[in-house]
Amino acid sequence: MTASSNEPLPATRLPIYRNAFDFERLIREFPLPDVFEQTVWRWSPERIRALQEERFLRIVEVGWKNPFYRRRWSAAGLAPGDIRSLDDIVKLPTYNSDDVKESLEARPPFGDFHDVDIADLPARGPLKMQTSGGTTGAPRPTLFDAWAWEAQAVIGARALYIQGARPGDVIQIPMTASLANAGWLSYKGCHDFLGMLPLTTGSGVVTSSRQQLEIARRFGTSIWHCFPEYLIRLAQASQDELGRDVRDLKTKFLRTYLGPDLDGSLRRELEERWGCPAYDAYGTNEISAGAFECQARDGLHFMEDSVYMEILDPETGQPVAPGERGNLVATVFFRTLPPIIRYNLRDLGRLAHSGRCACGSHFRRMDHFLGRSDAMVKLRGVNIYPMACLPAVRSDARTTGEWLCVVERVDVAGVPRDEMDVHVEVRRDAASRDGLREALEKRLKDDLGVVVRVRLVDEGALAELANTNGREGKPRRLLDRRPAFQPQQGQP
Ligand SMILES: [Zn+2]
Repeated sequence: MTASSNEPLPATRLPIYRNAFDFERLIREFPLPDVFEQTVWRWSPERIRALQEERFLRIVEVGWKNPFYRRRWSAAGLAPGDIRSLDDIVKLPTYNSDDVKESLEARPPFGDFHDVDIADLPARGPLKMQTSGGTTGAPRPTLFDAWAWEAQAVIGARALYIQGARPGDVIQIPMTASLANAGWLSYKGCHDFLGMLPLTTGSGVVTSSRQQLEIARRFGTSIWHCFPEYLIRLAQASQDELGRDVRDLKTKFLRTYLGPDLDGSLRRELEERWGCPAYDAYGTNEISAGAFECQARDGLHFMEDSVYMEILDPETGQPVAPGERGNLVATVFFRTLPPIIRYNLRDLGRLAHSGRCACGSHFRRMDHFLGRSDAMVKLRGVNIYPMACLPAVRSDARTTGEWLCVVERVDVAGVPRDEMDVHVEVRRDAASRDGLREALEKRLKDDLGVVVRVRLVDEGALAELANTNGREGKPRRLLDRRPAFQPQQGQP
């Protein structure tokens, strides 16, 4: 006899998660990984565009009900009904993180783009808040309702499935389940929608590299998901601390974020050290898993049924010609709280390879994430992207591969002049530093088209400043010390 025999129970009044969204409808709109792989993933470009148009028009209706978009769209002279097709998307104004910041200040803590106040929380059901990494100012919140939280997990799981993950795989996720989104997305995707065993070991700060490797060996980790800097650190720690080649782990693949690895050197290093493929991905807390590589590793496919990506000229805001570099501008189809409609991510990308991929999909691809457009420095008339230092820094085995560009305004005989120093870490075991600085300066001048100074620093010296010590988030490559470029708040 148990207390819960057959006696009827009162219904709960709590806003419980499983009642907060229609699961069957969700997986019809955003098919599960194996179903997706046989259907939407293989659709013709025309059919994909028709789906995008339908979803776009639906999200525009949501936008008109939202004070942030209504205000901005009305100010641009638009009225409901003016947007009739996906081609009309260019009529809608874009917005960026500065507009989000303004919205947050005007209506704290979530901003009118969310249209939610603290007092509304009980009625809005279970919500989850994630934030941007805060690499450029105060972290920006993005709320997830149950629908968006599930949808992003399905979408993340699809990318893993296309890359070859299958039920029973053990995935190690050395990322902390913090306000940053990637670790959560990864955990939920592979656990809820792929039947994999996630080992949520947390970043290197939580679980040391040596422990990470011991856990992997003991429980048979077959896939890793984390930032490339940490994967290299793990490979090195395996050698230094355990005296074992990390290739002994027989890893199936690495899921990571290669960034602007234009000459492929970062990928080569990862793949050689680990002895398995490394798949690139691109995402933010607003768009989730926005783009990912398939097994062909020939560009990052946009997740076309979930996020519509445009590439716009940073100066004119107009669409660039195919193959030209521009800002990634996202419209998200699986979110209504907040809607994301023409959000200028100010991350640079370039559409590559029109036509069908070797994997069989027509999903459009970008060749690389090319760095942040607001991280560009104009130095004596030349546009410089700090990420463009990567090939030079990695060209000499004596560096650790880590660098930080420091820009300062100096006074040369009464004339202000901007100078950039590139701080480069030198490996502790480098036999000598002879000629290293000169070689790097020469290569950087060739690559950047302008003279910069190189300062050699000891291994680990940039860990805090450049965020390369295995902590959360992307490494930082630019420190702008010019007075006009000082962040107002929140900068680490
Ligand atoms: Zn492909």
